[in-house]
Amino acid sequence: MSAHEQFADDLALLALGALKGDERVAVEKHLEGCPACRRELERLHGDMALLALSASGPAAPRRSRERLLKAIAKEPREQKVASRRPRWMFLPWLATAAFLLIAGFFWQQSDRLAQRVAQLQDESAQQQAQLERAREVVSTLTSADALRVTLVAAQAPPQPQGKAIYVRDRSSLIFLASNMPVLPPQKAYELWLIPTNGAPIPAGLFKPDARGSATVVEPPLPAGVEAKTFAITVEPEQGSSSPTMPIVMMGAGE
Ligand SMILES: [Zn+2]
Repeated sequence: MSAHEQFADDLALLALGALKGDERVAVEKHLEGCPACRRELERLHGDMALLALSASGPAAPRRSRERLLKAIAKEPREQKVASRRPRWMFLPWLATAAFLLIAGFFWQQSDRLAQRVAQLQDESAQQQAQLERAREVVSTLTSADALRVTLVAAQAPPQPQGKAIYVRDRSSLIFLASNMPVLPPQKAYELWLIPTNGAPIPAGLFKPDARGSATVVEPPLPAGVEAKTFAITVEPEQGSSSPTMPIVMMGAGE
């Protein structure tokens, strides 16, 4: 038996990390001076990786697989030196080591697979939820039982407002307007004094400014007319002698 053959099994155990003590020292010492055994050890390491892969991938080389499995399950060799501890003492340890090696690989694989499955399940659940929501939206939109309400801005746009202050004894009139709508071209607002008796009396023309504000200050009026109310119409720019309907604003005394 050559020295290489003598160490063949030890190399397999060394590759599995299962060689301890004097035996390990002896093998390592031999490896230092033996390129052939170093190559064999490297090959065994490579084969172990392949062995781990072989369950899901390509088969490991038959020779190494058998060698490694043999090393794992080995009976003590009768021709070995008597002083050596029988190999079966390593058996449970070896089996555990091999199991851990292979289980570790599969654990990594299955962990990755489990992550991917969880990811897909998650995506699927999200899509399912989105679909469910879309169905609810359509169902609500098309439901015959639905109460349909149109909402508008709670704040109404500012309303046009006019305030007339009239002192009959002095025939004095002050008129203030705000938020007046923009006039059509060549038109003006005309203020009318509506007397208790008789026809409406023109009380001034005005055009609101950009903000819709306007004033009429002391227009010429007949003396001592009792006012029932005031009104505003839209007239040609030069004014009218009688109001053109419709009356756009009207008010009574406060
Ligand atoms: Zn050797």
